[in-house]
Amino acid sequence: MKVVHTIEELRRGGSPGENAFVPTMGALHEGHFALIRRAVETGRRVVVSIFVNPTQFAPEEDYERYPRQFEADCEAARDLGVDMVFAPDVETMYPPGDEPPVPLLPDVAKLPRLEDASRPGHFAGVCQVVARLFDLVQPRIAIFGEKDYQQLLVIRTMAAHKPKRWPHLEIIGVPTVRELDGLALSSRNAYLSSEQRDRALGLVKAIRRAAAAHHPESAEAAMLETLREHELNVDYAVVRDASTLLPIETFSRPARALIAAHVDDVRLIDNMAISERDE
Ligand code: AMP
Repeated sequence: MKVVHTIEELRRGGSPGENAFVPTMGALHEGHFALIRRAVETGRRVVVSIFVNPTQFAPEEDYERYPRQFEADCEAARDLGVDMVFAPDVETMYPPGDEPPVPLLPDVAKLPRLEDASRPGHFAGVCQVVARLFDLVQPRIAIFGEKDYQQLLVIRTMAAHKPKRWPHLEIIGVPTVRELDGLALSSRNAYLSSEQRDRALGLVKAIRRAAAAHHPESAEAAMLETLREHELNVDYAVVRDASTLLPIETFSRPARALIAAHVDDVRLIDNMAISERDE
């Protein structure tokens, strides 16, 4: 496995248009491993990027303290059969003096961006970094987690709107990997004390209650109740159409329960599919 930091080294690695690509911010855990295993399964050359992207963090967010463990990440990637780790620094990704890339948000504007209400500019930053990475790596397949469900839809939409820029690019989503008790794996779980971790279980309990409810309205009420019981500060706890993220009145089409909530100063997200059912 090669570990490269510059665009020249990345290009020398070759195979544009053929790679299976997994973008990450590092601090790799079993959730990332599932994405990497999926990439390895394709039989293609696997490129994993590790880059904590400053443009998707708001100024008061955790960019500085975001967990970084580069050596351990590379070891894990090697064990999983990755061919190349691309770990650029900020200047490589965003060269000084370069025109700032136009955020691709107009293309994805039709999707309600729940996260944007509490994280303004977040998806502009995500689109900026992913577009730049797609340009550099030129993947044939790019793999993202359903853990960040809105992000997956945003990236799918962005890629679909740019067929000439990234021809034949296929976006694959991988189901959320959870701990035995249901907590969704996240690099931010490292911030939690054991008492906070217990309260964080409120997220998965809430979406499970939503998935068992008969109506979107009662699903949302059940989620809020569970989140309150766990003393979580709620950004949103909603049930939406699974493909448009628009509000729904019945479960007659596939839906998704989506939550963002704070355990004290740690912001966590989770989501779950709700299958369609008769009234
Ligand atoms: P991050 O390093 O947090 O930017 O995540 C990189 C990729 O891993 C994204 O596509 C995430 O959706 C995905 N991911 C993070 N946590 C999980 C998880 N628990 N299960 C599946 N995918 C995940």
